[in-house]
Amino acid sequence: MPQFEKLNLPKEGEIITFDNGQPKVPDRPIVPFIRGDGTGVDIWPATQNVLDSAIETSYGGTKKINWFKVYAGDEACEIYGTYNYLPQDTIEAIKHFGVAIKGPLTTPIGGGIRSLNVALRQIFDLYSCVRPCRYYSGTPSPHKNPQNLDVIVYRENTEDIYMGIEWEFDDNVCVDLINYLNNEVIPNSKKLKNRKIPFGSGIGIKPVSKSGSQRHIRKAIEHAKRLYGDKRHVTLVHKGNIMKFTEGAFRDWGYELAVNEFRNDCITERESWILDNLQNSPEISIENNARLIEPGFDKLTANKKAFICEEIKEVISSIFKSHGNNKWRNMILVDDRIADSIFQQIQTRPQEYSILATLNLNGDYVSDAAAAIVGGLGMAPGANIGDNAAIFEATHGTAPKHAGLNKINPGSVILSGVMMLEYFGWQEAADLITNGISKAIENKRVTYDLARLMEPKVEALSCSDFANEIIKNFR
Ligand code: NAP
Repeated sequence: MPQFEKLNLPKEGEIITFDNGQPKVPDRPIVPFIRGDGTGVDIWPATQNVLDSAIETSYGGTKKINWFKVYAGDEACEIYGTYNYLPQDTIEAIKHFGVAIKGPLTTPIGGGIRSLNVALRQIFDLYSCVRPCRYYSGTPSPHKNPQNLDVIVYRENTEDIYMGIEWEFDDNVCVDLINYLNNEVIPNSKKLKNRKIPFGSGIGIKPVSKSGSQRHIRKAIEHAKRLYGDKRHVTLVHKGNIMKFTEGAFRDWGYELAVNEFRNDCITERESWILDNLQNSPEISIENNARLIEPGFDKLTANKKAFICEEIKEVISSIFKSHGNNKWRNMILVDDRIADSIFQQIQTRPQEYSILATLNLNGDYVSDAAAAIVGGLGMAPGANIGDNAAIFEATHGTAPKHAGLNKINPGSVILSGVMMLEYFGWQEAADLITNGISKAIENKRVTYDLARLMEPKVEALSCSDFANEIIKNFR
């Protein structure tokens, strides 16, 4: 047990451990929480109230979270001194107890930390940022059918633009780099020959590695294994038509991983059906099967490959009633989409998607766009997950002008808590909360941000009353 300088450890509770990236959660875990700056003072008590009530209602005292208050952001500076935004105590506590939840944090202006959220992700190597976007009936939305969107964005959290390797146009390194590329690298490359980087350009490097991509996509596919029916579907989102060796490689490494690691693992029973039935099916044209079922069923049988790819999905749909007792539906579909196309498709054909596995920048755009469709950031939760730690957090900021007024919407942190309960495997408590939120919104018992968009206008609840309304609607 680490020695903490200024923290009060709960008197009882156990540690969450990790086995192969999976959490092993005791019945009474100790969970560090960071209250958050600004509206964190309003949001955190409301969130804790809802989580504790749901756990108590579901398990009647056999399970309980022992909350452990740790500090980050402005509150940490008050306790630990100026510029101590992320004290060692907090880092040790999260490292030791494995899973934490946090409210929003102000981005520090001095003290050498770029962003506390980014720092936490890097320190604990939380390489997958997970953002579910689903619609709660009654939430005001700019879309006609927002209920059709139910996706989980898996955004890579450590590479791509998050590496932050950039040089300003007049930096000597930048000037040298451009000279080197223009005078040596490009002229000696058959592919790049006639290109020239304009002087006065800034330069950014976008690293995308095979190991970084695959560990992230592995988490997305593992998640799909826990879903049902058509939701067992992972779409690799990329801009590989333009950036072949970063974005395109992300797609290729994703398919390679699906084939090499998940084919046998996911499908044993389903595999035998697909091989037995499709092999003899005149409807299936092998040429149609682009990637995952490769040309030649003999080879397929020999290699026991039985993931399906989207090209045969329609054909299988047309025969599923008569073939294989729908077993193919339990398989995981892995396909890919160009990033610009996914922006259109989450609006025009949202029901066709489930898990979107993305690189860092694409994931940022797509998750905010998806959140907007289902009603905005006030209801968008997030989690940052690695192999030995996970931090659940709001996706919005500290909204300082609303701080301390007991009016802000606590939905984003509460739903992050729901993700944490699901991560623990405490599904009953998670379901109580999502039911409670759905009913509160359906009954138009909501905070100001949703109330002002409702037609006809409704009176807004306070932050704490919205939490109580959720609890009242547990079923
Ligand atoms: P912000 O805090 O997200 O607030 C912008 C606006 O979004 C608010 O004025 C409010 O709009 C709405 N909003 C935010 N939280 C809401 C909630 N819980 N419920 C309903 N509406 C909500 O963005 P910001 O003002 O640009 O950033 C403030 C600070 O937060 C900065 O220091 C920033 O770096 C930091 N930040 C932290 C995180 C994080 O910790 N994850 C994320 C983003 C930003 P209305 O006033 O129109 O109602």
